[in-house]
Amino acid sequence: MSAAAPGTPLRTLRKVFGFRDFRPMQEEIVTTLLGGQNALVLMPTGGGKSLCYQLPALVREGCGVVVSPLIALMKNQVDALRQYGVRAAFLNSSLNYGEALEVEREFRRGALDLLYIAPERLLTERTLELLTAARIALFAIDEAHCVSHWGHDFRPEYRQLSLLCERFPEVPRIALTATASRRTREEIAAVLGLDGAQRFITGFDRPNIRYTIYAGAQAQEALWRFLANEHARDSGIVYCMTRKRTEQAAAWLTRRGRQALPYHAGLPAPERRRNQERFLQGDDVIIVATIAFGMGIDKPNARFVAHLNLPKSIESYYQETGRAGRDGLPANAWMSYSLQDAILLRQLLANSELKDERMRIEHRKIEALLGMCETSGCRRQVLLGHFGETLPAPCGNCDNCLQPPRTEDGTVAAQKALSCIYRTGQRFGVNYLIDVLLGKDDPRIRRFGHDRIKTYGIGGELSAIEWRGLFRQAIAAGLATVEDEHGSLKLTAASRAVLRGERGFEFRRPAPRAAAGSRRSRRPAAGVTAQSAQERELFEALRRLRTELAQRQGIPSYIIFHDTTLIEMAQTKPQTLAEMAQISGIGERKLERYGEDFLALLNQA
Ligand code: ADP
Ligand code: ZN
Repeated sequence: MSAAAPGTPLRTLRKVFGFRDFRPMQEEIVTTLLGGQNALVLMPTGGGKSLCYQLPALVREGCGVVVSPLIALMKNQVDALRQYGVRAAFLNSSLNYGEALEVEREFRRGALDLLYIAPERLLTERTLELLTAARIALFAIDEAHCVSHWGHDFRPEYRQLSLLCERFPEVPRIALTATASRRTREEIAAVLGLDGAQRFITGFDRPNIRYTIYAGAQAQEALWRFLANEHARDSGIVYCMTRKRTEQAAAWLTRRGRQALPYHAGLPAPERRRNQERFLQGDDVIIVATIAFGMGIDKPNARFVAHLNLPKSIESYYQETGRAGRDGLPANAWMSYSLQDAILLRQLLANSELKDERMRIEHRKIEALLGMCETSGCRRQVLLGHFGETLPAPCGNCDNCLQPPRTEDGTVAAQKALSCIYRTGQRFGVNYLIDVLLGKDDPRIRRFGHDRIKTYGIGGELSAIEWRGLFRQAIAAGLATVEDEHGSLKLTAASRAVLRGERGFEFRRPAPRAAAGSRRSRRPAAGVTAQSAQERELFEALRRLRTELAQRQGIPSYIIFHDTTLIEMAQTKPQTLAEMAQISGIGERKLERYGEDFLALLNQA
């Protein structure tokens, strides 16, 4: 035990990490492990899971062994801990033989507080043997949902971690995940021998994230407006579906003056690594990525996550957007959703068969995703509801809460649209149908004789854009299906009910552009919220100093101090080291290392 003198967990928390108090559940979890009991922890991203094993590893005798699948991030985690004066190291395939030997030697000597190990490494006889050579404080199994076949990050080696409880029955184990699904939770408990473990489950809400789903035209331009208005100088992630699209979007953002880098599995490994490093280190770098980028991105100050394409499911949406605002400061989750998306998902549903349970689950997932995109109610209520959690009141921090959409009875309009599908023989796509409804003078329409049918020109009450919105909503609601690749619409049983007047249709009119823009004035900037202009300026100066110090050591800047710490510094302007020690996130070792540098800057201000 180097950094912390033996003492109560709270004393260690303050001394080493410089945090004032535990977050909800952290103390109970720490106490459980200190008492030698096992724990299963489900907490959302940013909830403070790491501390739940780091702290007891410091307080208990011996070294805490952390199993983590994220080789790319182990170094960062270890660097971050060393900044706090914690004796941490890792063992994975990125080390050469000599380096690994040195880490092993330190472990044997009892000179480590925390050792991070990749699962495949841990399972080798050599490592298992090593682990018997010194005292182990606890085993932490991070990203524990990797044991689950059902999850998105299944790792076969994770299932073999069951041998930990066989080989080291006396060492307390803690498994942690941010995955909300109940099924995964049970699987973790079963596989890792944690049936009898205490369970700690916090709510899955991320109140600092503002959810917005943009359903208008020209998604890319809309993304640009969002970035320009709210994140002109922030770092964040833009998700795209395809590799090609990530490269296009990154190039496009770069042309417009942003630092944007692509990331996908097809890039050469060195370039991928470089781009990820630049993202982690920079304060204003945008990474444009496929979902290959993400698991365990523990950059605390990604201020936004934007989706240019729909995620696979609400689960994925929750996971991916969860990478925004880990530090608890305001952050944005922005997504574009289009008629084309609705058509694609409907096609998928129409062409898949409900052969087995798995397919039925897939169907429900897609329906749920469409439902969240089309809701006129609170997005957060839908999102949390999906995980079985009830939010009693609308959240006040999503697009629909901030600017409730105008809904109206759209039954007659829907009947016109559906009847137009019917009268044109269920052979045409949305654009053609809209032209017919609007009575467009078009040779193709004349050739098919559709200028003489009853629905020709009966749609003057809505604009083409509004008709697109209506078709999208109707398709999402299952009032029409799209089966072929031409996108021709067909009627369903539900559409007949609407046509016969047995079922109504509520239409959300797309918000006019001007209104969408004016919202800005009412919303606080989602970026870092220093209070006054002067504080903002001081914060920027502190941020520059931090970057300088970080670059000198070749580490990401947030490892030195988090944004939250710098904001508090800008607000309270400490003048002495003692005053500075009061700020959250400045433990003893960091005060020693950086206190003077930051004081000098503050004293000039
Ligand atoms: P998770 O692994 O659950 O996503 P982390 O362990 O990365 O979350 O913690 C999220 C952030 O919260 C980190 O920046 C961490 O330093 C901070 N944090 C954790 N516990 C506390 C605490 N008790 N007080 C203040 N900040 C905390
Ligand atoms: Zn809401």
